[in-house]
Amino acid sequence: MSATMPNTSTAAVIPSLSEGDAKFLAEVREFVAKEVLPNTRAWEDATSFPDDIWGKLASVGLLAMTVPTEMGGRGLSCMAYVEACKELAKGDPALSMNVAAINALCLGHIVHFGTDAQREKYLKACMEGKVKLAWGLTEPDAGSDARRVKTFATPIDGEEGMYAINGEKMFITNGGKADLIILIARTSDTELSAFLMETDQPGFELVDRIHTIGVRASNTVRFKMTNAKGWHTPCTFEQAISLLYRGRLGIAGMAVGIAEKAAELALDYSKQREQFNRRLCDMQSVQNMLADNFLDVEAATLLLHKGAAAYDRGENVTTISSMSKLFASEAANRCTNNAIQIHGGRGMTFDFLVEKLWRDAKLTEIGEGCSEIQRMVIAKQFIRGN
Ligand SMILES: Cc1cc2nc3c(=O)[nH]c(=O)nc-3n(C[C@H](O)[C@H](O)[C@H](O)COP(=O)(O)OP(=O)(O)OC[C@H]3O[C@@H](n4cnc5c(N)ncnc54)[C@H](O)[C@@H]3O)c2cc1C
Repeated sequence: MSATMPNTSTAAVIPSLSEGDAKFLAEVREFVAKEVLPNTRAWEDATSFPDDIWGKLASVGLLAMTVPTEMGGRGLSCMAYVEACKELAKGDPALSMNVAAINALCLGHIVHFGTDAQREKYLKACMEGKVKLAWGLTEPDAGSDARRVKTFATPIDGEEGMYAINGEKMFITNGGKADLIILIARTSDTELSAFLMETDQPGFELVDRIHTIGVRASNTVRFKMTNAKGWHTPCTFEQAISLLYRGRLGIAGMAVGIAEKAAELALDYSKQREQFNRRLCDMQSVQNMLADNFLDVEAATLLLHKGAAAYDRGENVTTISSMSKLFASEAANRCTNNAIQIHGGRGMTFDFLVEKLWRDAKLTEIGEGCSEIQRMVIAKQFIRGN
């Protein structure tokens, strides 16, 4: 727990953590303090992570969180997973987003829907950071309406399980660095499924590096496939997409990390800065912003933990994962905005981290389903009555 965080913080009392999970999170915190936070500005300026980041993430176990121990992974609870996403985001939100997507969507896919042969071929190397991963659903014409995917997969004669893939994907995290992309493609006019596509092949072509206002170190790209070979993972579209439920809890964890870091930085600054012969934190209007920030962090953390605990109990988390992501992402945007306000003019400079957190926070309201889609999911569940 940060020195500045009041004792009411839920950070110190994470429910249902095993001894192994708690030890893992202590290692993640140490990794973030030593290897992540000190480098976050440099990575943003370079708009990339250094190549050795994958080996470092692997050495802490951050590339194996969602893989069961019997498959050689860390087999962590969802509670530990979302807390790890939170801790990483306190150091670098872009790295948190990458690790969240790799664990929930990419590794989760191979674990749940991969064949034995596919797991045998890829899992170990992915967990060691030797095979880098990305998850490709979004296309130029298919965003919130994911069923509009046009990328088409056609079986290759005489090659069991292999398909020729044609189409284009956009906004894919780590897409330009990945060795293997888990790709959603259409197999008929009415059906979609998922494929493992290696990028080291002539049919795969990077079209654009997409530069964003936040999470700038993350390699966001657009790419094209022309008869690229993909290995079918037998699953329906609904099954593949269901991975987004745990995914959204990971993004919620990222958002809580951003909110908490912004709240802490604003508190620290308000204690140091004096105007009108008093500290900013002694002014009631500033206190209102500090209070709102810590209330947001507390509420977002409670929803996050409720969602993670439900996942760990094997319950359906469709609604709670949307609630958690929606609330946490909007809280992160409110907290970072307040944090800039408390920093005044300095908050708008590149010398203070709050402006970066504010830009990074925006992604959490858009990635893995924008806020409007989360509200739609929540409302639908209540209207249906389940
Ligand atoms: C940095 C970054 C990383 C990303 N990484 C990945 C990745 O790794 N893999 C991947 O597949 N995708 C990724 N995405 C894509 C992301 O998931 C989409 O951007 C998101 O789902 C929204 O789709 P869209 O951008 O096409 O917006 P659109 O679907 O065009 O929506 C635009 C806006 O319209 C409104 N809207 C849309 N539909 C509705 C509705 N039904 N009701 C009410 N309002 C609505 C919302 O306000 C929405 O923000 C990433 C995006 C970013 C920015």
